[in-house]
Amino acid sequence: MAQERRPLMAANWKMNKTVREAQDYMAALLPRVDGLAGEVDVAVFAPFTCLSEVARMAEGSGVIAGAQNFFYEDSGAYTGEVSAPMLLDVGARASIVGHSERRELFCETDEAVARKTRRAVEAGLLPVVCVGETKEERDAGRMWEKVSGQVRAVVEGLGDAPGGSLVFAYEPIWAIGTGETASPEDAQEAIGRIRGLLGELRGEKFAEEARILYGGSIKPGNVSEIMAQKDVDGGLVGGASLEVDSFLQLVEAAR
Ligand code: PGA
Repeated sequence: MAQERRPLMAANWKMNKTVREAQDYMAALLPRVDGLAGEVDVAVFAPFTCLSEVARMAEGSGVIAGAQNFFYEDSGAYTGEVSAPMLLDVGARASIVGHSERRELFCETDEAVARKTRRAVEAGLLPVVCVGETKEERDAGRMWEKVSGQVRAVVEGLGDAPGGSLVFAYEPIWAIGTGETASPEDAQEAIGRIRGLLGELRGEKFAEEARILYGGSIKPGNVSEIMAQKDVDGGLVGGASLEVDSFLQLVEAAR
């Protein structure tokens, strides 16, 4: 990957961990990532219920505490939702946006994902915007149609924010939680095309500054070859991030 973009290794805990489990995890993680600042960014995307505790423990450590979702309005009659200012209030500095599980299970549209991304950037939260195709779409030769549409929707809604103000994560849906990883070449191909599209839409500087992660069954055994791809700037990791030891191996591989 390009030297100017600092790698990012991000744990997506999904709907896992009690406050106590989160505390134990952070207590084990923090001393072991001390000193990595400047080499690799480490983020932990926690459930809302333990986010304030994760953020409190991460304070001053360089580890980025993040949420897995939020709503694009700041307050009001939106039962069950939390807003970007609420996330900032508990110390979060980032949020996943448009994870495929939210798009599929909770009907999040490209438009909602674009609005959330814009709101995150305006509020000063780093959005990690997920894009990716299903197995059926890939088999039908429609991978790029799907992914490019998702990327376009976000970038067109972004105003003139710089490339460094957001992160994309290419996560082929068929590789999430399945143990089936995209080949390093497939990951590079998709991510390279996304970077090319960012260049077309917003110019070379934007494309060079935006970080693009791969996600989908990353584990210690396959992370090095994925990270070796020139356009891959890091990983968004579900299953293999739940144990500190395996997540740390992924962080090491991103240095
Ligand atoms: P996985 O999840 O690593 O368990 O495949 C990745 C993700 O959904 O972000």
